[in-house]
Amino acid sequence: MSRIVYVNGDYVPEGEAVISIFDRGFLMADGVYEVTSVLDGKLVDFAGHMARLRRSLGELDMASPASDVELETIHRELVTRNTLVEGGIYLQVTRGAADRDFLYPETAEPSLVLFTQAKPLVASPVAARGIKVISIPDQRWARRDIKTVQLLAPSMGKMAARAAGADDAWMVEEGLVTEGTSNNAYIVTTDGTIVTRELSQSILHGITRAAVLRFAREAQMKIEERPFTIAEAQEAAEAFITSASMFVCPVVDIDGVAVGAGTPGPVAQRLREIYIEESVKAAV
Ligand code: PMP
Repeated sequence: MSRIVYVNGDYVPEGEAVISIFDRGFLMADGVYEVTSVLDGKLVDFAGHMARLRRSLGELDMASPASDVELETIHRELVTRNTLVEGGIYLQVTRGAADRDFLYPETAEPSLVLFTQAKPLVASPVAARGIKVISIPDQRWARRDIKTVQLLAPSMGKMAARAAGADDAWMVEEGLVTEGTSNNAYIVTTDGTIVTRELSQSILHGITRAAVLRFAREAQMKIEERPFTIAEAQEAAEAFITSASMFVCPVVDIDGVAVGAGTPGPVAQRLREIYIEESVKAAV
């Protein structure tokens, strides 16, 4: 089945979508992206993703290719044209095409690409069993709060995880976990406190993180925003990750050490249920 994708103003079959070889996204990873989940054909936390896109563009002095209203229209059109019920919509903005130069071009038009990916999100076998993670050094640049398309370090991390028989990797800097390769990282201490690293330039400000912490607070759960070590995570009662595509997913093994009972924990499972219930309700 060929998808209909969006590229610079046109809806075209995926095989016909074209971007210049001079596009700075291709030559210099000079681009930012967002992934918005779709449940029941509706967009989850669309406003949050648009707000973070605006922030990423602003931090890089990159021009915006379209207004939020126009971007919402494109998202909806892709859902309709691809009869997408559950999955995600990938959006990428780059600085556009210009002869190769380190300096930003003065005249380039930003490029805009969107495509859909159908995928079961709620009935996820991975979330049901929980994932195994390994720890790796965080080798990314220092502005991880900007959601850029330079994803080689996370790709290498996921390949290392697979080679080790694990599902994903948690990245460690100065002895402390920053985040997962494509998700935010959490532990639940033996006294039931949810611990996750505080927001800074060291991690991506997850849209799912914001929602899950809000729901946890509303459910009177205790939260501490601070970094933790791999050793503390291995001794914790539970561990889990959050992202737009995984929602809340339990972590049951860290570097070969079972977390808690080595099965998905009650806090992670409860937060996953709440997150899905609230997201379906609030999706637009
Ligand atoms: N951290 C990183 C490095 C990520 O790539 C992602 C996924 N975009 C996240 C955290 C989770 O962010 P969100 O909840 O907005 O998907």
